[in-house]
Amino acid sequence: MNNQDITKVKQLLSSPKKIVIVSHKNPDGDAIGSSLGLYHYLVKQNHQVDVIMPNDYPAFLKWMPNENIVANYEATVKTSNDIINNADIIFTLDFNALQRAGEMEAVLAQANAVKIMIDHHQQPDAYPTYMYSDVEICSTCQMVYHFIEMLDNEDLVDKNIGTCLYTGIMTDTGSFRFRSTSSTTHKVVASLIENGVDNAQIHNNVYDTNSYNRLQLLGCALNNLKVIPELKTAYITLSQKELNQFNFKKGDTEGVVNYGLSLKGIVMAVIFIEHKQEGIIKMSLRSKGDFSVNEFARAHFHGGGHTNAAGGRSNLPLKETVEKFISILPDYKNDLNK
Ligand code: 5GP
Ligand code: MN
Repeated sequence: MNNQDITKVKQLLSSPKKIVIVSHKNPDGDAIGSSLGLYHYLVKQNHQVDVIMPNDYPAFLKWMPNENIVANYEATVKTSNDIINNADIIFTLDFNALQRAGEMEAVLAQANAVKIMIDHHQQPDAYPTYMYSDVEICSTCQMVYHFIEMLDNEDLVDKNIGTCLYTGIMTDTGSFRFRSTSSTTHKVVASLIENGVDNAQIHNNVYDTNSYNRLQLLGCALNNLKVIPELKTAYITLSQKELNQFNFKKGDTEGVVNYGLSLKGIVMAVIFIEHKQEGIIKMSLRSKGDFSVNEFARAHFHGGGHTNAAGGRSNLPLKETVEKFISILPDYKNDLNK
């Protein structure tokens, strides 16, 4: 965002507005954290703010301050459409294309509100009025902190704002271990902790609330782990039957793909998860170094994301999806062996 845009956004936010904050389908820690962090900031500035997510999200995110105000679009289509149509400003957080907002895409596209994007995914679409896009930053939560700084309001960052922002920074950096974690990330986090954020408690809330079934499902996933050493690739499958066997709940498979990447020498790890009801296979892809799973997922699996973390999907059955994946891999042999 250039200085001219910042001045205009400042002007826009200088009087109370009707604001809607939305994020992507299947919201993760960064989606919920950035949305609620921004919510607390804007409410403090006397705006009227609604937060609407395209669908539900995991229980391990349902503890953030004022989390109960988040509307699930699937359950509130009519009222949410009215709110979106009457908004002065719509913030779209943690996604780069309206299609990532699922069923909300159409209503967002035609809404008259000023649209402000804050996002760190590659190749952002041109829909927003004001775009704050930076693919170098680890998380949208860190960008919301910088956005508040741009508005010269970093003094307003309190424990509530900080708790939400810390959560997304922590989850999107794999607890500060991914390449995207910069010295600035640590400075932002240090400032959040100085403002009262309880980092150990947040880690506990997100990562240490496993059910017995979730760990058993992880065991099943690890049993299914396959490795293709010559292509430095590891992959995991989970069928709907296996998910049912361990009473799958939203979020139970989050992070499982990283176990493949933790194998010595592995450059790309993928998990294929069968969703019988939707008739699709959802994929999460992760990589190390310069191998771009964003490009790979865009080219072959209707997806995208970041260089080292992307998602995708396939309409083929599970077995055929894996076969397609394995048949494509040799084309990337050089890139995987760099
Ligand atoms: P995950 O594997 O955790 O679902 O997603 C990894 C990253 O890729 C996230 O940053 C997510 O926003 C992005 N991503 C996931 N699925 C898709 C998709 O279908 N399309 C695009 N463009 N990005 C995705
Ligand atoms: Mn993110």
